[in-house]
Amino acid sequence: MTYRMYIDGEFVESNNRQTRDVDNPAKGEVLAQVPEATTADVERAIAAARREFDEGKWPNMPAAKRGRILLQIAQAIRTHAKELARLETLNMGKPLSESEGDIADAADCFEYYGGLANKITGEVNPISGRALDFTLKEPVGVCGQIIPWNFPLMMAAWKIAPALAAGCTLILKPAEQTPLTALRFAEILDGISDLPKGVVNIVTGDGPTAGATLVKSHDVDKIAFTGSTEVGKWILKTSAETNLKKVTLELGGKSPNVFFADSDFEMAIAGALFGIFYNQGEVCSAGSRILVEKSIHKKLVDAMAERARQIRLGDGMEAGTKMGPLVNAEHRARVEGFIRIGKESGAKLVCGGNRPGGELARGYFIAPTIFDHVDFNSRLAQEEVFGPVVAVIPFENESEAIKLANHSQYGLAAGVWTKDFTKAMHLVKKIRAGIVWVNHYHPAPMEGPWGGYKQSGIGRELGKYGIENYLQAKQVYINLNSKPVQW
Ligand code: NAP
Ligand code: MG
Repeated sequence: MTYRMYIDGEFVESNNRQTRDVDNPAKGEVLAQVPEATTADVERAIAAARREFDEGKWPNMPAAKRGRILLQIAQAIRTHAKELARLETLNMGKPLSESEGDIADAADCFEYYGGLANKITGEVNPISGRALDFTLKEPVGVCGQIIPWNFPLMMAAWKIAPALAAGCTLILKPAEQTPLTALRFAEILDGISDLPKGVVNIVTGDGPTAGATLVKSHDVDKIAFTGSTEVGKWILKTSAETNLKKVTLELGGKSPNVFFADSDFEMAIAGALFGIFYNQGEVCSAGSRILVEKSIHKKLVDAMAERARQIRLGDGMEAGTKMGPLVNAEHRARVEGFIRIGKESGAKLVCGGNRPGGELARGYFIAPTIFDHVDFNSRLAQEEVFGPVVAVIPFENESEAIKLANHSQYGLAAGVWTKDFTKAMHLVKKIRAGIVWVNHYHPAPMEGPWGGYKQSGIGRELGKYGIENYLQAKQVYINLNSKPVQW
């Protein structure tokens, strides 16, 4: 299959005809070719988005009408849900049932922001004197949106939907590994005749060329990025140096999942495994540090290991697969590097750590891996692995649990497992993270804010917060005094 990019309402190749192979990570085989955008291609997409923002209908269209178009997009995603989910699994590797969940989430996101589009309001400011002072909320402009490969279409929806609801125009760059659902989505969008051409542009290419062109452009007003902290920092710095773009960042994490002795034990085991092994551990909010109270430490680790060994690895397209392959060989090598670091650190490898053999040897699989007695200061406890590798650290009491939980440069998410509500609320308040789940892990409802403290990011996506990223406030002062100003 050969795909094309979506620039100014046209499906195009790259201007030098260069393409990139995209893999099926379960088989280690080439799945499709996509265009490799050049700087000139991306600049053309930026020019289209700029024109549509400055002169086009989209930003000035009645918000209710924009909202209805978003609802049409949501419906179109649902109509194509099966096909999109299959494509997601073929390209990214995750189990089909999880792709189905992601696609439903993408549709929900367009529905949510479709409903919110005409509920954006400013306010009247209670000033003194004979004047009326009020705040208008206006779209921020042309947005460059750069997304990772772990939830490809869902991440695209989290970025595109609020931007469109706010009246922005945009250029989205999917990750080089997983561009297929975004490109198929472009074809679906193209069928929505009320969406003006050039409002949504989708370019495929690598970060240092296609992504960096967005970041360095003087015609882009805002960058929304999800990915590594390292690239996020570069984006913030470069955006400041060019035209002081508004920047929102959703970055990495090393999230603590904290288990107290008084938690429901069955719920605890399931929550610990789901927290780290869902989506092969390739989740920014993965519960990759398991902090467990000493009195249940051994029991929890034994139970986790027993069940982790039974997790069915396989091609995401096959029924019954619980964990798919990692996204590509390069990423698997990175995860294996952390497994080596864990072994060398003296931590105890309880299970996994290896590539499964047999039929799975062709794909980029890694067995679910648990390290116990990990030193809280070690690299395995501090750095983001972004794979199915968890570090277990025992603790003595509540205050030590809080100290360990916060001992991280990151602050994206945390889980707390206890039946004691007072204790849970104490941890909720003490943990410095953007999301805290109590007796659960991973839910990301559309209605609440998503984002990180510390080096896990800047700004929030989803919910009412998510649209604020795409709006700016304009103060309007209307003089109601008919006398000339005295000065
Ligand atoms: P990454 O390099 O941060 O990539 C994320 C996105 O940014 C991709 O679309 C990437 O493009 C783009 N990008 C890279 N360099 C760029 C630049 N100089 N200017 C503009 N855009 C740029 O992350 P990765 O390579 O996919 O993964 C590396 C590590 O990042 C992972 O192992 C994990 O620790 C972390 N990560 C975190 C998240 C998260 O959700 N927080 C998601 C993914 C990865 P290309 O990749 O196409 O070149
Ligand atoms: Mg990359």
